Amino acid sequence: MEHIDDVFEILPYALVFLNPNLYIFKANKKATILFGRTAGELEGSFFIDYLSESSRSACVAKFDAWQKNVALSTVKEMPEKELFIKLANGKEMKVFLSFIYKRIDGNLSYILGSLRPQIRGANSESGIEIVATVSHELRSPLTSIKGYSTLLLARWDRLRDDQKQMMLQQINHDADRVTRLITELLDITRLQLGRLVLHKRMVDIELLVVTTVEKLQFEHPELEVSLSFPDEFPTIYSDPDKLVQIITNLIENASKYASPKGIVISGEVLINEVQISVKDQGMGIPKQDLPKVFNKFFHHSDGKPSGSGLGLWISRGLVEAHGGKLTVVSELNIGSIFSFTLPVTYIGELDE
Ligand code: ADP
Repeated sequence: MEHIDDVFEILPYALVFLNPNLYIFKANKKATILFGRTAGELEGSFFIDYLSESSRSACVAKFDAWQKNVALSTVKEMPEKELFIKLANGKEMKVFLSFIYKRIDGNLSYILGSLRPQIRGANSESGIEIVATVSHELRSPLTSIKGYSTLLLARWDRLRDDQKQMMLQQINHDADRVTRLITELLDITRLQLGRLVLHKRMVDIELLVVTTVEKLQFEHPELEVSLSFPDEFPTIYSDPDKLVQIITNLIENASKYASPKGIVISGEVLINEVQISVKDQGMGIPKQDLPKVFNKFFHHSDGKPSGSGLGLWISRGLVEAHGGKLTVVSELNIGSIFSFTLPVTYIGELDE
């Protein structure tokens, strides 16, 4: 019957087998991805604990009804219900849940639960807004790539070496920007579906910050960043590409909205977690804007070039997917400090 296990994995839904008391005894890979928990964590746990508080209280009556229904041997299934589940990162997600009751000799043997996340349709408002914003941002680097490459091809023999080099550098820079925007777009979709998969390994954060700063300084020579990390800063079990994305966003914002000079990146070891902070010197963020800077599409640029208003929203999502928090403190005319925490994982706790 091994092929039953294959079917269990191949079906496009998150599936959980529950015993008659609603404890999970088997979960497929899609369930582990949906809940953001390992099979080991899911198996043996009480299914109802994964429902959001609102769904639990709104459904108390329904749960009672389910339990009673289950007792009736004529009842074979619970039709799909819409409710919210709690994810490991503390967020809630809307899903459609259905149950099939398996009986042997009239007695309930097990329950098969199927969970289907609500997928934002192409016509969902914020979906359209995101596509519109990102498409708009893609247009300018693509126009420049197309323009410079056409020029190089048409006038190769007439252009000086330094002109060719400048154009190739611009093409290279704009191609990086397109790649970054596409990565962000994919992250947005995965964050919204709660399906962001992290490729974690032990990461030397200080080294990662150094290489990220060097790369940014190559693109923005005016950047002046100093680092302050204690000796023996622990390596952190995390996704290095996502950390580069978060740190790049924070440094670019500091440079764009405060000043490219006097940026300090520091690392601190706290209890069971580390904290990385990016401190800038500038105008700071007005008090009334502080709670909004992490909102999707928030930007307040005061005439300075601004972006899509998605950078901090994505960074916060990426930090939270790691089990950390991204916060900000700011003082007008002094500057801002954006800090994020990451849990320290001890050997033995590694989930993969
Ligand atoms: P954007 O793509 O517009 O840069 P972000 O989500 O990265 O979007 O930032 C949202 C807004 O937060 C910015 O438009 C800016 O007004 C404000 N902001 C972000 N970082 C800083 C900073 N270091 N100093 C001052 N304002 C900032």
